[in-house]
Amino acid sequence: MHLSTTCVQGGYTPGNGEPRQIPIIQSTTFKYETSEDMGKLFDLEAEGYFYSRLQNPTCDLVAAKICALEGGTAAMLTSSGQAANFFALFNLCSCGDHIVAESSIYGGTYNLLSVTMKRMGIEVTFVSPDVTDEELDAAFRPNTKVVFGETIANPALTVLDIEQFATAAHRHDVPLIVDNTFATPVNCRPFEFGADIVTHSTTKYMDGHGAALGGAIVDSGHFDWMKHAERFPGLCQPDESYHGITYAERFGNAGAFITKCTAQLMRDFGSMQSPQHAFYLNLGLESLHVRMAQHCKNGQAMAEFLAAHPKVAHVSYCGLPDDPYHTRAEKYLPNGSCGVVSFELKGGREAASVFMRSLKLAAIETHVADARTCCLNPATSTHRQMNDEQLREAGVPAGLIRISCGLEDTNDLINDVAQALDQVAFEVK
Ligand SMILES: *Cc1c(COP(=O)(O)O)cnc(C)c1O
Repeated sequence: MHLSTTCVQGGYTPGNGEPRQIPIIQSTTFKYETSEDMGKLFDLEAEGYFYSRLQNPTCDLVAAKICALEGGTAAMLTSSGQAANFFALFNLCSCGDHIVAESSIYGGTYNLLSVTMKRMGIEVTFVSPDVTDEELDAAFRPNTKVVFGETIANPALTVLDIEQFATAAHRHDVPLIVDNTFATPVNCRPFEFGADIVTHSTTKYMDGHGAALGGAIVDSGHFDWMKHAERFPGLCQPDESYHGITYAERFGNAGAFITKCTAQLMRDFGSMQSPQHAFYLNLGLESLHVRMAQHCKNGQAMAEFLAAHPKVAHVSYCGLPDDPYHTRAEKYLPNGSCGVVSFELKGGREAASVFMRSLKLAAIETHVADARTCCLNPATSTHRQMNDEQLREAGVPAGLIRISCGLEDTNDLINDVAQALDQVAFEVK
């Protein structure tokens, strides 16, 4: 099936007389005839549902669609993108372990790795997305368990060389996790370039309507856990909390990662997506392929307009021929990247402030990847505690604006930005 068909119909095929739309199984618990029947589920000897903190049929149908879209062997939903990334990483790492991560990743994930997981005794080494093979090799340690990066980083908009990072990870006997939130499987399928596990904040393009927080984890089934049994004891040695089951033996490369992640981490941390949210997510997925094309069309047109504007100092968008990530985008994102464009106004903080308040269609929001266009100036909002000098050092100059182009008419969006730029009064050199 083509990806478009999978967006619409994947994951769920109703039988005779069954509901056409995915049923919302709004039940925390499931009934059994005998305790022994239920016991088999607890021992992971039989498949089925007993409590929605671990698994729910609605969530599983939507996870199956995302799994098919990414070309994976198993998948699960989580309550948010943060939970997806934490679970995917913590499923492989314990206290005393080490992670190699690309430095331009989403701020929330950067914080998760550098502060919260550090408190759990897990260390991280950040490397530039433009790292050389030698520098990348030097980041690994004997206790490294995983490599992490984002296909298109939010909001830095750098493009990951997935093949380079996957090859390095495999050279050091560990898997590569790629957060594919911004590209979505419509524009890039990281497994085709060697990634082993993919994560998503489904809150973004997959939902696409600013309606439901969510996350997803997909396993490619490619990584051979038993071949590296000493490095991954959690997958390759008996789990005492499940009567000594060994995930990699019982569920093979195709199922071990997601089964362990569900059976242990969902059980103990409980970051389940609700069936209602999974239903909303599925509505978004049904039009993902149609929406991504329009987001990309608007993003490309906006980037070209801004790049030619005299009040704009700089534009980041990998669809622009002179963007540093354009060549990589041609390889990994041949059909387009996303609708998010960032640009720097020549007039700094003051110009950004005037620009932001002059927008009529684009709303000021801490969100991206929505059907409605939204805009953010970090200096006057999320990063307001920093002065201009600190902002520049952090790579977020005061005049930087991130615009997430929605699904509106292209000319309406450009006209809105054009009139807001007209309000910015300063001498253009
Ligand atoms: C938003 C985002 C996250 C976090 O997702 P939430 O659903 O907000 O928890 C993770 N990674 C990327 C790339 C994101 O854009």
